[in-house]
Amino acid sequence: MTTTAQRVRRIALFDLDGTLIRPGSALQRMHMDAMAAAIAHATGRQDAFAYRGAELFYRGVNLAGFTDAGTVRTALRLAGAIEDEIAERLPEVVADMVGRLERSPLPGAGSAAGDLLPGARELLRALAEAGFALGASTGNARAVAAWKLRAAGLSGLLDDGGFGDTATEREDVARAGAASLTPPGSVPAGVLVGDTVRDVTAAHAAGLSCLAVTTGAATARELLAAGAEDVLPGLDGGGALDSVIRLSGPGAVGRSEAHLPLSHART
Ligand SMILES: [Mg+2]
Repeated sequence: MTTTAQRVRRIALFDLDGTLIRPGSALQRMHMDAMAAAIAHATGRQDAFAYRGAELFYRGVNLAGFTDAGTVRTALRLAGAIEDEIAERLPEVVADMVGRLERSPLPGAGSAAGDLLPGARELLRALAEAGFALGASTGNARAVAAWKLRAAGLSGLLDDGGFGDTATEREDVARAGAASLTPPGSVPAGVLVGDTVRDVTAAHAAGLSCLAVTTGAATARELLAAGAEDVLPGLDGGGALDSVIRLSGPGAVGRSEAHLPLSHART
């Protein structure tokens, strides 16, 4: 139970690709081109990332919900690296990918606003005005996320978050995102907005409800079966704002705390 000494901080975490940013966008393709080049440099294999609809594959592996670290780990494993080699080389490959992206011709701030999904910017602004702390829960490395948000014209709207530089599990990313927005003495309560089954399970692991959207590769049936508290066709039209507020209300707080391990409740 929440005590009077524990203030509840309402938070909303957002996945990026497929949730705020159009899947298969120019921004995502530049990210994946840099990833492919870094992997090729590390493994000697030239394997492109393949887009099928809203899904993304690497050597037949569906990357829905993967983190950057998880993608690199998978590529190194498929190239025959053993676990010790993977652990040793993973940070340098992620750093190489980030470096290649940052050295590529940089889209100007806001120049890729067309890569935003409808309603994304309006929802973030409305939630900030409603007093929510906003953050990312993304498989992108932190620098990649900042690069995409800047290009999409969202710089400054997300306060912090969880990222995929080293974490391979989305649950760890979401927990880090929730912790980043929760000051000492408060417990996180709120919502994670995402487009994959892994976003749903990550939300619950972090003690958050999940608003899932079908702008990515997953269907409403798949997202509901995974336990999403709400599923919408997108972020536009006001339904997402209502949903986030409703799911982070008093009823949701109790449900969230039932999932919240004590080790993740900052006191
Ligand atoms: Mg996504």
